[in-house]
Amino acid sequence: MSESKPHPDRATIVATLTDYVAQLREEGLDGLPAPEGMRASVPAQGAPIVAQAPDRVSVAEAAAQARELSKYPGLEKTESLETLREFIGDCRRCKLWGLRKNLVYGVGNPKAELMFIGEGPGAEEDARGEPFVGRAGQLLTDIIERGMGMKRAEVYICNVIKCRPPDNRNPEPDEVASCEPFMMRQIELVKPRVIVGLGTFAVQAVLKLKTPISKLRGNWHDVRGVRMMPTFHPAYLLRNPGEKRLVWQDVQQVLKELGRPVPGRAGA
Ligand code: URA
Repeated sequence: MSESKPHPDRATIVATLTDYVAQLREEGLDGLPAPEGMRASVPAQGAPIVAQAPDRVSVAEAAAQARELSKYPGLEKTESLETLREFIGDCRRCKLWGLRKNLVYGVGNPKAELMFIGEGPGAEEDARGEPFVGRAGQLLTDIIERGMGMKRAEVYICNVIKCRPPDNRNPEPDEVASCEPFMMRQIELVKPRVIVGLGTFAVQAVLKLKTPISKLRGNWHDVRGVRMMPTFHPAYLLRNPGEKRLVWQDVQQVLKELGRPVPGRAGA
């Protein structure tokens, strides 16, 4: 084997892998999932290969993410949400820039103990430059204010990607890769005690998992040392109001973790 060059991002890779292993342990696993070729069900030679969607990303993908995190030199030196916003600037790092009306950065208390992370801006958010201000946003505000007994201005709200994908399509991998270092930096700067991940896309992007939200919600996860509670996206709740009771269970866990009183159900 040829000698490999020392990797410039070694420290970041080690930190990310350490987080990843800690997360696996928290989920009751005692090691990394086997690489594809080492799985028990390797098809016999000549047999058709049936694609298996891995439940977790591989170590190589985790390392790739680590490289993503250090792709913007100087990002780690931004010291406040304001300087991070300046760093992002009139962003043209992915193809969404030409389609946006506004870059939707984040809103709320820069020292919030509770942070909400959604997917990406919709039409209303794009028009106003603020996350979660459309119908789903109104429901999120209700969950925060009536359900949790907090003020919207008390928490911090942002998205994984900052520019609206056309026709509200799902963000594409290159768009996420370009934008997620900024969300990670927002987490590091706000240093919330708890993150609530809203919906499949945001939670899978943050946790680097492919597990469906229905399996992830209700259980604590770790994001850079911060506890994260995944729950359903408010837009999903608008279509499936019966699932609000599960979100109520999730936010009750969040309130308990924060040592806050749990308001009566009537307001939710
Ligand atoms: N959905 C999201 O995920 N984020 C928003 O800001 C609005 C809707």
